[in-house]
Amino acid sequence: MAPTTEPLYAITPPSEARTYGAASVRVVRVGWFRPDAGGFFGVVPRPLWSRFTETDERGRLRCRLNLLLIEAGGTRLLVETGTGERLTDKDREIKGIEGGQPAVALRELGEDPASVDVVIVSHLHYDHAGGMVDASGQPLFPNARYVVQRDDAEAARGRELRLQGIMEAEQLDLLRASGQLEEVDGEVELAPEVRVMRTGGHTRGSQAVLIGAAHGSQRAVFFGDLIPTRWQLPVRWTSAFDDYPIDAVEVRHDLLSRAVTGGWWCYFTHDPGPMPVQLALSERGAVVVRETP
Ligand SMILES: [Zn+2]
Repeated sequence: MAPTTEPLYAITPPSEARTYGAASVRVVRVGWFRPDAGGFFGVVPRPLWSRFTETDERGRLRCRLNLLLIEAGGTRLLVETGTGERLTDKDREIKGIEGGQPAVALRELGEDPASVDVVIVSHLHYDHAGGMVDASGQPLFPNARYVVQRDDAEAARGRELRLQGIMEAEQLDLLRASGQLEEVDGEVELAPEVRVMRTGGHTRGSQAVLIGAAHGSQRAVFFGDLIPTRWQLPVRWTSAFDDYPIDAVEVRHDLLSRAVTGGWWCYFTHDPGPMPVQLALSERGAVVVRETP
């Protein structure tokens, strides 16, 4: 795996923010982590996925922790919170985490965590919800309401053995106690032309973010872990971390079809490459990143 010279933290400069209708979007890179490639690609055989990316000596992929910073109608929204500061050193070492603390990254990039009005968490796994509160249990975004789908909050509180210890139930309880947790159902507008949409598939209450007008290329989408990188665009390439793979394939097919025909701009939560990208169909009917001329 080739070493990278990319900085640990990075943000789209304000002058290069993308505008979709009433909303402008910047990408915030808050660090790296290394998911196990076998888990990431699930049942997909290595000879197929290894055309797109490579692994380190421990069989791990080098992935980004990407957040979005959105401004719409005077509201500042942050999408995702990274891994945060509550993991043990051993966990950080196994997961290959570098950085990951959203408030530290934002401050280093010249942005004030206290200026965030809304935090959207795509789902309650550690690499998306780990930075909701700090090590002492205080919300890292003191003035924000945190938006989570009710189905995911209930899954985190539930009794399924597969989910025990996997979802950030304790952080959720701390946010509820601080009065900052907002559980939503389905598709909800949070600011002008910024909506969350329950997708399920990856977790019971995973949500995507839809930005901009309903039609045309003035629309963007953030898929969460439903499609974590451009390497997972083949519609049946669900991961071993998807709790509901049959649902995941159906909703991936629906969203990718709409993204291709609508010319939507796509943001991926773990992709190390440049974003956003548009999608196209290959001659064989596969969804691929549209080549820029
Ligand atoms: Zn993830």
